[in-house]
Amino acid sequence: MKKFVFFSFLIMLFSAFITPIALGLSSRLSKDTPDKQIFEVKGEKLYIRVFNADTSKNEFIELEEYLPGVVAAEMPASFELEALKAQAVAARSYILSKMETSSDAHPDAIVCSNPDHCKAHISERSAKARWGQADSDRYWNKILTAVSETDGEYMVCGEDIVEAFFFAKSGGRTENSEDVWGESRPYLKSVASEENYTDSEFYSYKEVSFNDFRKTLQTLNSSFTQSSFCPQIGKITHTQGGSVDTVTIDGQSFRGTQIRSAFGLKSANFEILLSDKTVTFKVCGYGHGVGMSQSGANQMAKRGENYTEILSHYYTNIQIIKL
Ligand SMILES: [Zn+2]
Repeated sequence: MKKFVFFSFLIMLFSAFITPIALGLSSRLSKDTPDKQIFEVKGEKLYIRVFNADTSKNEFIELEEYLPGVVAAEMPASFELEALKAQAVAARSYILSKMETSSDAHPDAIVCSNPDHCKAHISERSAKARWGQADSDRYWNKILTAVSETDGEYMVCGEDIVEAFFFAKSGGRTENSEDVWGESRPYLKSVASEENYTDSEFYSYKEVSFNDFRKTLQTLNSSFTQSSFCPQIGKITHTQGGSVDTVTIDGQSFRGTQIRSAFGLKSANFEILLSDKTVTFKVCGYGHGVGMSQSGANQMAKRGENYTEILSHYYTNIQIIKL
């Protein structure tokens, strides 16, 4: 039943794509009986059910009222307004894309507030406490502006709502989704991303002893044996985005993404540096690398580009439409 309701909802959304005139959301859904457990339309407003990861409870909240907390949690409020607007549209698209598939982790809610699963969310009060008194009102108003100036706008690619992944900063290019997760999406393609290269956190380092290096690799490949000898780093291949695709260590092949997760590296865009007793990962950027680089979006905004230009750059072949 739930699947059917989703399907009906999508058919109605898609019929609106064919008609470029922005129809009101309620008129598109008026013949449907939405599943009140997941979402509900009242007038022109879309209410979504969100699983609050802190309280483990489902909450019913209007999409546009939920979004400022997502933008505030996911992007620094000090970023340019156009970057924050791009973030608002990306977050709205991501949430709407989740109406297509229910999650086993929270089958009665569209999204949750766990940043490792769906999208982070922070309350107005917590966001203001984090920013401090001097900036709190100015920053919150900036976030509200980013959401209201993009009211109802989201991205589609053909008939698909764009599952708008984003991450903190790239190493100079974004990644093809298939190179990171194995699944290709026409709008998640590797593109150049000019970053803030003077950012002190652009590079990060992680140093481990030869023994700990092998001990960690053993969790990925049980045939790997521990020893304190210098590891043999063999052939390294790279993705189009510049991350490590595969690396051969002591004759065994590993994926760059596996190494990233096993050693807790900020990204899979790394070099391996060897010294007498240790292995050092020199890591570039932060995040999975798929979709919009938030830092790159901020750089584009600083150069005078607006949020639609930012989104069209990071998400290939998309259109921005309004609910
Ligand atoms: Zn979730």
